[in-house]
Amino acid sequence: MLQDCNIRCAASGLSLSHARTNQLVDDAVVWANQHGLVVALKDPAFVNPELAVIHAPLALTPVPYPRTRFELAQQVMPLFNSLIDAVASDEAYLETVLRPAAQHDAFTARLLRVLCASRGRRAALRAAGREVVLGVHRSDYMLDQPSGTFLQVELNTIASSFGCLSALMTRLHAYMASRAGGLDASRLPANPALEHIPDALAAAAAASGHVEAGGVVVMVVQPGERNAYDQQWIQLQLWERHRLRTLRLTLADIAAGAVVDEASGTLRLGGEEGQPPVCVFYFRAGYTPSDYPSEVEWAARELIEASNAAKCPTVAYQLAGTKKVQQDLAAPGVLERFTTDPRDAALLREFFAGLWSLDPVDLAADGAAATAVADALQRPEAYVLKPQREGGGNNLYGEELRAALQAGGEQLSAFILMQRILPPVNKSVLVRNGRWQEAETLSELGIYGTFVRHGDEVILNKQSGHLVRTKTSSSNEGGVAAGFAVLDSPYLV
Ligand code: ADP
Ligand code: MG
Ligand code: MG
Repeated sequence: MLQDCNIRCAASGLSLSHARTNQLVDDAVVWANQHGLVVALKDPAFVNPELAVIHAPLALTPVPYPRTRFELAQQVMPLFNSLIDAVASDEAYLETVLRPAAQHDAFTARLLRVLCASRGRRAALRAAGREVVLGVHRSDYMLDQPSGTFLQVELNTIASSFGCLSALMTRLHAYMASRAGGLDASRLPANPALEHIPDALAAAAAASGHVEAGGVVVMVVQPGERNAYDQQWIQLQLWERHRLRTLRLTLADIAAGAVVDEASGTLRLGGEEGQPPVCVFYFRAGYTPSDYPSEVEWAARELIEASNAAKCPTVAYQLAGTKKVQQDLAAPGVLERFTTDPRDAALLREFFAGLWSLDPVDLAADGAAATAVADALQRPEAYVLKPQREGGGNNLYGEELRAALQAGGEQLSAFILMQRILPPVNKSVLVRNGRWQEAETLSELGIYGTFVRHGDEVILNKQSGHLVRTKTSSSNEGGVAAGFAVLDSPYLV
């Protein structure tokens, strides 16, 4: 019975009674509500459900991670930023690697078409010194228990979310340390995402040359976004730190209102000369096929891509963040083409899990991939099968994975096979909707990176904070927005 036993939290072996846990959960929820660690409630009982909020799903106490490994993941982030930029700049590479997947995946194919269609326009912008790229990346890892190292799950180049709420999670856990005792707040690493992400947007805005003319940031959003308050924090910070105004628009809104000046590439919304130019398009949508229900949304994406505003991300950055590119970079010699110092390549490789192509051509030529497939048919629990998708809930595991591999065929070109990472199991108190449960959990660490390049000049490239998401150990996937996971934070030991 829960009432009778003590709750052991992962960090520092903190032990709490049931009554004490109740008190601390109340403290945590009140703190979250008071400090904007919230998500939209979406309760139709309210007059305006967009404006009703509830605390974000959260873990009561932080999760232990080895300090040296954590710090290495922070140090390597600027290298991952540069890698994405180098890969995205090599469009011939992107096309070659992604073409087989695109033959069986209409979304990837469409993004490649936008890349090609905008090439001439983008070359002209570059020649005119108006190319500004902005990366807000999040490299996700799990601590692999067998090796004791962080292995990369994926690298997100579009809509890398939860940076701001995660920075607040660090503050919440510092507060919990002060309330609970037994936790050392100095073991919670600094989390600058709440400042760095808006500062990167502001740096890109400045480089766009539109700020003096009253340029605005456009946040491209999904209609009815539940995680709107993480985004609203960026907007608030853009205003308070940089006096930059943000418009929240869907792709359909942009298609309806955007006018691009042919000669300069300047995009304005509203169509009138007096309207301010857009200095940055920051995508928190556009990563999944359902964000493009019609040609209208694709038309908006093409307009944005061909405009002289900074884009986060460009289509090339989005493609550089696909699972297929991640898999190809892990193949012998590929990463080395995109890094100048072999020591950097060696360091990056330390974070790579086993990744294999399922393209029949590669399977015929690559003995290692064929061996991995044979093993996955025997031991599907040791692998993950991934399509070219973002946003969680798309991967195949266990029997479904085995069935897909057995079916075989060319359509597997749109998937990659990945080694299943086996993180340690912890005990956590998970708090959702004001109620808590104790559970056996697994955690995933994300490190944010921000990057701005103006033409040939890199004006910003840094590690920009972190996120920990914790899920019950029985669930395969870990999205917070998708309802599988809660926000957490690292506790360095
Ligand atoms: P998405 O872009 O949809 O977030 P991910 O590659 O992050 O795709 O996969 C979603 C989730 O699936 C991850 O958050 C993680 O919980 C789980 N997962 C993905 N790859 C692995 C892996 N190699 N080992 C263990 N779990 C994984
Ligand atoms: Mg992703
Ligand atoms: Mg992910």
